[in-house]
Amino acid sequence: EATSFGVRVAPLGSHGQVLVLAEDQTERRRVEAVRRDFVANVSHELKTPVGALSLLAETIQDAADDPEAVTRFAGRMQHEAARLTYLVQDLITLSRIQGGEPIPTPGPVPVDEIVHEAIDRCNTRAAAKDITLVAGGTEGLRVWGDDDLLVTALRNLIDNAVAYSPEHTRVVVSARPAGDSVEISVSDQGIGIPESAQERIFERFFRVDAARSRATGGTGLGLAIVKHVSVAHGGEVTVWSKEGSGSTFTLKLPAFGGTAYAVPSTSTTP
Ligand code: ADP
Repeated sequence: EATSFGVRVAPLGSHGQVLVLAEDQTERRRVEAVRRDFVANVSHELKTPVGALSLLAETIQDAADDPEAVTRFAGRMQHEAARLTYLVQDLITLSRIQGGEPIPTPGPVPVDEIVHEAIDRCNTRAAAKDITLVAGGTEGLRVWGDDDLLVTALRNLIDNAVAYSPEHTRVVVSARPAGDSVEISVSDQGIGIPESAQERIFERFFRVDAARSRATGGTGLGLAIVKHVSVAHGGEVTVWSKEGSGSTFTLKLPAFGGTAYAVPSTSTTP
């Protein structure tokens, strides 16, 4: 992108001197373009379920004398309303964490607890597809952060693993110490992500396959939330994936106290 400059001229002192300021506006323009795109995307994402809802309401009016049809359309209205709710919830979560503000209530977080809480919240969806959720290596590890946000991030990763995997497969959540960090990985045996898309999946509203994402109830914001949660914690999220065999998402988070395990009293570590 070409660099663009804005020039400002300001009077200075009483002898007719002027101050000429050349500002680099490239970054400001980029930020504005990103914001405009985001607002356009949000509007589009909101319009879709609202449009479906009003169409369904009309259809129900026409089908008033067919109770079976009324029940069916009412069910679809509930589904669309739920989608709207998820979208608004995700937008609120995202706006809370992407502003670069400090995380709300930082403290030591046992990895075992957040992993099991996230798994519990995804169990119903997994069971519906006979997908087994397993955890390993989480005992004794602690990270530094906000437990609610970390559960939200893990839940998004596990939800995706379930959504983009066939029935009767396994999703494994594992943790391991890595120097002054802890790595928590979510691995699935799902459809995988084409290499060309792997960099973009963390962008808001980017989807490899929009129809599939909507069909599984996705808002297109899950991975953007995961990314912002990890960055807000001073960590990062990475992906490894192979089309047709599966994906592994890894959250790298700072260990509480600078070391993944509690330092034993006999340790000579400085
Ligand atoms: P969505 O609500 O669409 O799932 P996300 O931000 O969570 O939005 O993910 C963005 C896109 O990345 C998804 O639409 C999907 O194409 C892809 N994706 C995310 N997780 C996985 C996964 N575990 N396996 C395959 N594709 C995935």
